[in-house]
Amino acid sequence: MLIGIIILECLSAGVRIKLKSRKGPEMLLPITSTINQDGNISIGGCDCVRLKTSYQTPLYIVDITTVKKQCRDYLDCFVFPDFGSEIIYASKAFCTIPMCQLVRSEGLSIDVSTGGELYTVLKSGFEPEKIYFHGNNKSYEEIKFGLDYRVGTFIVDNFEELETIDEIAGQKGLKQNIMLRITPGIKAHTHKYIQTGAQESKFGFGFHSGIAMQAVKKALESDNVILTGLHAHIGSQIFNIEVYDRLIDAMTGFVGQVNANQGVMLKHLNIGGGLGIRYLPDDRPATIGEFAELVHDSLRKNTKKHKVDIEKIYIEPGRSIIGNAGATLYEAGTVKQIPGIKNYISVDGGMSDNIRPVLYQAKYNAYIAGRATNIDKIAGGDAEIGAPAENKYTIVGKHCESGDLIIEDIMLPGVKKGDLILVGATGAYCYSMSSNYNSQPRSAVVAVEDGKSWIWVERQSYEDLVAKDRRLYEGGSVESESLFSHHQYK
Ligand code: PLP
Repeated sequence: MLIGIIILECLSAGVRIKLKSRKGPEMLLPITSTINQDGNISIGGCDCVRLKTSYQTPLYIVDITTVKKQCRDYLDCFVFPDFGSEIIYASKAFCTIPMCQLVRSEGLSIDVSTGGELYTVLKSGFEPEKIYFHGNNKSYEEIKFGLDYRVGTFIVDNFEELETIDEIAGQKGLKQNIMLRITPGIKAHTHKYIQTGAQESKFGFGFHSGIAMQAVKKALESDNVILTGLHAHIGSQIFNIEVYDRLIDAMTGFVGQVNANQGVMLKHLNIGGGLGIRYLPDDRPATIGEFAELVHDSLRKNTKKHKVDIEKIYIEPGRSIIGNAGATLYEAGTVKQIPGIKNYISVDGGMSDNIRPVLYQAKYNAYIAGRATNIDKIAGGDAEIGAPAENKYTIVGKHCESGDLIIEDIMLPGVKKGDLILVGATGAYCYSMSSNYNSQPRSAVVAVEDGKSWIWVERQSYEDLVAKDRRLYEGGSVESESLFSHHQYK
């Protein structure tokens, strides 16, 4: 594994510190994480204890340097002499205007899967032609919305959607680029809720019963769409990247069949996202470089094997762009001991800001942000940092659910009320899956870079929670305005 040494100005502490940085997505905390002279964890040159004072908790922290590094690793590693490539950020991982602006400024394209994500991405100033529109149940209005704003490519999930795009594009006199989402019958070894490529999946057109071939035929016969290629996404948090070799084999094999059957060579192949990241010290995901190498080898091998001509490969990473760039800062409240059974730390957030442990038993690592001592063990991510970890705790949230859990059984130094708990790797699928359960206002998102911090998303207020509520009998009878009635993006 490549280990580089970068020198960072630790601006908040006013000292210069050497920090190990590893190429690839295998850090547990953002790459700029250090321990400053006060013994506090600092991210992007900003002391977490001071961030708490300025912005309160719970607080999502996004390290811009880590996001940029991940984007650049993808752009650098996926340059092949014999195939073009495009990196598309999967916005569902974390979809806010500033995040979209950041990946845009790094030169990535972007995907969306709902009208709301499309709205956010357009509001961020993204060029419509760089937008890929996913979704297994796009409404008529959502499809029209995409066509009104000339999104670059629709990833078509089903026959009805294909007909609707063709119809609306026809009315507008457009030829709309599309890819077909294929379900290749490949199971990624990941949690079943984040597997999407198996035959029984709700997504896309399966190979079985010739459905995928029928979809290709129908797309080719549709006057107002241009079928540019095929798409597949087999799952998320994938560690065994060899599964992408099987995917490319299956997809290029199908491209060969399409050529034989329909006389058309589909030259663009989108293999989705899914590269795993490191949540726990023992996790060993592949690096972006290893992933790119495998994809390239597989493309070379399988284009030959199936006698097809793939011009361009598309990758749609979400988690591996933003996951390790984010961390969540909480304040410990009640610390409760059930002698001989459990030690609970209750934090001031929980399943409303991170549903993943409840939803699919996701695991996290945590640190005490104000009592850390061992610099070498932060970003590179050995087991623990800070004072000796002698107590086993379960970190739970403040919600009225026994299942409201952040981390089960983590060893930490003695924790007391008021300690700041930093949970790593929460950049992906935490804010974007957050809720107002128990009327908990959504937490703020703060960006950090070079010793500066600023708000990306404001904390919701209690007023925000009730802003759309009406009085018992005074709601009025007029239906609320259509979601699509005020399109002003530019
Ligand atoms: N593309 C599609 C179609 C997806 O559904 C997803 C996530 O579910 C992604 C890309 C991004 O996956 P990941 O965040 O694991 O890279």
